[in-house]
Amino acid sequence: MEQKRDMLRGWMFNLRRRRDFEFAREVFIDPDLYYDGDDLGVSYSKEKTRFRVWAPTAERIRLLLFMDEETPEPELELDFQKDIKGTWLAEVSGDLAGKYFIYKVHVDGKINEVVDPYTRGLSTNSRRGLIVDLKKTNPAGWENDRRIKLENPQDAIIYEIHVRDFSSSADSGIKFKGKYLAFTETGTTSPDGLKTGIDHLKELGITHIHLQPVFDYASVDETNEEDYNWGYDPYFYNVPEGSYATDPSDDIRIREFKEMVKAIHDNGMGIIMDMVYNHTYTTEDSPFNLIVPRYFYRFDEFGNYANGSGTGNEIASERPMVRKFIIDSVKFWAEEYHIDGFRFDLMALHDKETMQQVERTLHAIDPSIIIYGEPWMGGLSPLDPSKQMVKGAQRGMRIAVFNDHFRNAIKGDNDGMGTGFVSGAHNQEMNIKRGVVGAIEYSHDIRDFTAEPWETVNYVSSHDNLTLWDKLNKSNSNDSKELRIRMDRMAQAIIFTSQGIAFFLGGEEILRTKRGNHNSYNAGDEINQIKWKRKADYYETFKYYQGFIELRKKHPAFRMRNARQIREHLKFLPTPYNTVGFLLKDHANDDSWKNIVVFYNPNREAVNFKLPLEGRWKIVVNENKAGVETLMTVNGPDIKVPFVNTMVLYQE
Ligand code: CA
Repeated sequence: MEQKRDMLRGWMFNLRRRRDFEFAREVFIDPDLYYDGDDLGVSYSKEKTRFRVWAPTAERIRLLLFMDEETPEPELELDFQKDIKGTWLAEVSGDLAGKYFIYKVHVDGKINEVVDPYTRGLSTNSRRGLIVDLKKTNPAGWENDRRIKLENPQDAIIYEIHVRDFSSSADSGIKFKGKYLAFTETGTTSPDGLKTGIDHLKELGITHIHLQPVFDYASVDETNEEDYNWGYDPYFYNVPEGSYATDPSDDIRIREFKEMVKAIHDNGMGIIMDMVYNHTYTTEDSPFNLIVPRYFYRFDEFGNYANGSGTGNEIASERPMVRKFIIDSVKFWAEEYHIDGFRFDLMALHDKETMQQVERTLHAIDPSIIIYGEPWMGGLSPLDPSKQMVKGAQRGMRIAVFNDHFRNAIKGDNDGMGTGFVSGAHNQEMNIKRGVVGAIEYSHDIRDFTAEPWETVNYVSSHDNLTLWDKLNKSNSNDSKELRIRMDRMAQAIIFTSQGIAFFLGGEEILRTKRGNHNSYNAGDEINQIKWKRKADYYETFKYYQGFIELRKKHPAFRMRNARQIREHLKFLPTPYNTVGFLLKDHANDDSWKNIVVFYNPNREAVNFKLPLEGRWKIVVNENKAGVETLMTVNGPDIKVPFVNTMVLYQE
């Protein structure tokens, strides 16, 4: 061991001088330095608390225990003992719940004060770790709290929202504005008497709430009620962010987070966390670096921190103890907090093997857990391209990626003047078809990056970039508002009628605007918040989204199980120029409807389509309404679809 520690110290030295990566790789894959126990961090019991930290290059580690988060002097200070496989161990007897701690790590000729990255509790602004009795943080009935059962990821309809944006507006009718607890409030209404908050989501019908980062992040001062940030600035991965709690101290954030989870589950929805394991907020003095300098990060050929995240560093997920940290972390959230799904920020920066193990771990806990991520990065990475989780790398895995091809085909570019299928661009039919089939290999021409429909997240907008409504206002400013509303509805109608996982930015159902701000990460509540008054202003659009969600949920033909089913039951129809139409035939995926036809007409005039089969057809989506109720019965084969509109019909 001693010899290995010297080798490692040598590596740290060499890396800076000789940049000897081959040597580094050899040392760190040494199985003698891989600790596979499940007790890293703080293990609490009433009788004693154990601290285990992996720090193979440290010379000495001291534990400092504090009675509260303020008192500067520790009430106890003791040395860690060297233990197995690069770890150090300290043990203190007695009931330590509610006490705070930091480590003093002697490494690399420095003494670093640091909180364990594995910590499960924190003081205000993460200055000290908190020792928590997690059992005591469970709300009443927690033992019966269950994740939402999903047979297939494509049964999910995901609503992305930031904790503050959901409730911070003065017209939300919600008491705990901007807090976790806002999700526990029922019976809330807007000044117009329309449902807001969790009741609104229930009324809308979505299945999963995807929250922008709610693990502890560093870019807001938890004592400043006005501070706003999206939170893609990871500090401590295994503790809820403190600013969304009514009080960031003690274990209140943990209790309130669990109350939120339970309320979401009690209302029949799942909760998905946005995880940012690709980088940390700080680099040289990140908690990882202060314990094992440089091990957790990738470097370029000159020995500089690689910057594939675009934010100054990137996590080396492929290193055994980094991979273990990520797996331990998602496992902890799934088990302790009953999380229903995980979204991986800049997932391309994670190596495939890590994501494979993440998937196996989570699905062993519950096959219903949804896993998806961004199949791109924010810069250039030294990670071998064959290992990157880019678009296509997910093939054959139970992991989905965001389908930007489809997004761009529907609306054009993200923030510019470009248009897409719904807003005036021509020659997008083939790209629309590739999205409609879930990006599978459907035919010689209609094929994209998935093997199975659960591998694509279909969407037209997310927290990044302009909201769909703002984008249409920009790219189609010369068109009437009525026309832009039609384009908006059609864009989402395409998402709701396509194979794969449906996802949309929260608030789009009431034409959310950020007043043209395409990157509002720190723009504050006023720009970012959902203005609930818009629900009354755009109630028809809300009902239209709601109707499509109901249609998708009640009709499994839109959520086919696999690529084989799609190839067998989905048939594109010959349709006029610049339109798309398709048939879901013969009770696709055991649908109660025998045949379903969907027509998209993005043209500025009505277009005549031909129904593919004889007999009577029932219209369930027309110019103004969407849902499952028959709006009109028609006889084929000719049917006129109004300008910039979607039509859905069926035969029993
Ligand atoms: Ca924080």
